[in-house]
Amino acid sequence: MVYPIILYGSPVLRKVAKDIDKNYENLQQFVADMFETMYVSDGVGLAAPQIGKSLRLFVIDTSVFKEDDPSLDGFKKAFLNPKIVDFTGEVWAYNEGCLSLPKIREDVERKSKVRIQYYDENWNFYDEEYDGVKARVIQHEYDHLEGKLLIDYLNPLKKKMLKSKLLAITKGIVDVDYKCKVIKG
Ligand code: ZN
Repeated sequence: MVYPIILYGSPVLRKVAKDIDKNYENLQQFVADMFETMYVSDGVGLAAPQIGKSLRLFVIDTSVFKEDDPSLDGFKKAFLNPKIVDFTGEVWAYNEGCLSLPKIREDVERKSKVRIQYYDENWNFYDEEYDGVKARVIQHEYDHLEGKLLIDYLNPLKKKMLKSKLLAITKGIVDVDYKCKVIKG
């Protein structure tokens, strides 16, 4: 099942998401639906709040970047109840986009490495380190679970320049090929 993407201006994107219970019903299907929604929307990552569910889960597939870096091919994973326990390495800027912020792309500075603890959809636990684009996508998606968005990293001038674009998004005025909507409250 493909969910509509929840757009900027919806309060669910600003909430700190809750852990998923180990007895969560139809978890496998939910994760499969998250991947399906991400692929249909041409995303490299999707967090549960972006489909209106305030839960600590995100999915990633960086295969689309394989031309730039072969190690990104087949990097497909679900992260449940993740915790980034360490941000290390150098700060670097990378041009980010977000399905919840259509047509907005901005350079965001983040640390190059993360150590993350998480479960997969079968409740296997992992404690791993990632760097480069993998760490970048992980941090972007993780932010969604904390109610944070890429625009929060911009300086006041950049934010001001985006004001009318952002206002249009909150009204659902967007030109995209995927299903999306604003949900108030
Ligand atoms: Zn995003």
